[in-house]
Amino acid sequence: MRRSAFITRVAAAALSPAIARAQDEFSPEMSTNVESLRVLLGRGTARPRPEGGFTFNGRPYRGTFIVSSDGSVVSTVPLEQYLYSVVPREMPPSWPAAALQAQAICARTYVLQRSSPRRSYDLVPSEADQVYGGILSESPAGRAAVDGTARQVLRFGDAFAQIEYSSCCGGHTEASSDAWGSAPISYLNGVVCPYCTASPYYRWQRNVALASIAAAFSSEIAGYGSLREVHPGAADPSGRLRTVELRCDRGSAFVKGTQFRMRVGPRVIPSLLMTKIEPAEAPGNIRIEGGGLGHGVGLCQWGARGMALGGASSSNILDFYLPGTTIAND
Ligand SMILES: [Zn+2]
Repeated sequence: MRRSAFITRVAAAALSPAIARAQDEFSPEMSTNVESLRVLLGRGTARPRPEGGFTFNGRPYRGTFIVSSDGSVVSTVPLEQYLYSVVPREMPPSWPAAALQAQAICARTYVLQRSSPRRSYDLVPSEADQVYGGILSESPAGRAAVDGTARQVLRFGDAFAQIEYSSCCGGHTEASSDAWGSAPISYLNGVVCPYCTASPYYRWQRNVALASIAAAFSSEIAGYGSLREVHPGAADPSGRLRTVELRCDRGSAFVKGTQFRMRVGPRVIPSLLMTKIEPAEAPGNIRIEGGGLGHGVGLCQWGARGMALGGASSSNILDFYLPGTTIAND
């Protein structure tokens, strides 16, 4: 999508009647602000600030706002200013400039991909979309990364590239098709990553009580007797476990790796890259060794940091983790 198409779409955005009414009442100038993004902040108190912008529940934000009849506050903010706040929330602003720039290009692409004239807002500032904390989340390094990549987006062919990233891949990024069972995407097929070894999650080990696993999978192991051991099942090409074997007195139940991680706890088991599962020294416990934090698909953020420290540019980084994509002006 070209920038002009985006502008047209925002200008012609089909606001819901409630929002449109509120827009007329509170912010008639909004419709002229065509390079902007609509962010649903939710219910709360919004007030204009004398120095510009507004506060929402006491936090300062750039841009303007409207209040819909149901009390939801929708902010309209220039895209680049929105990114000022998002980039430092998604990657520590103390990290090297090229890594922050790669993150900024990803964030911009993600936003433009999701802008939708069918809704009265484009984004929700939660983990589900991007973390948007307003002015207090900004930092000079984050602003520099956004300004240094102004208008740059990631494309594959004529379309925006699908943007995926996670904290640390543990040495091999994951194929999107293996992570989510979706159709393979050529630039999200997984690569060997030697750059994220500085992450505190590059390698990890955990002790987990068999009793807590048995409780989490009580229906799956019903009829097999007591849970005795846990073993890695099948792995995908990146090494992430597709299945985990729960070995009981009278047979084994095989559960999906994702299910195992979610039910035992995503903080207890940081990723599906579990390389060893064995009895722990403490009786009734197992010891799990693994690597990485998060789903591992797409950009490895710690890897981007490692590459940048080694002298790579944002373009080098995106080329490595999303091979075949190109950086273009939106
Ligand atoms: Zn990595």
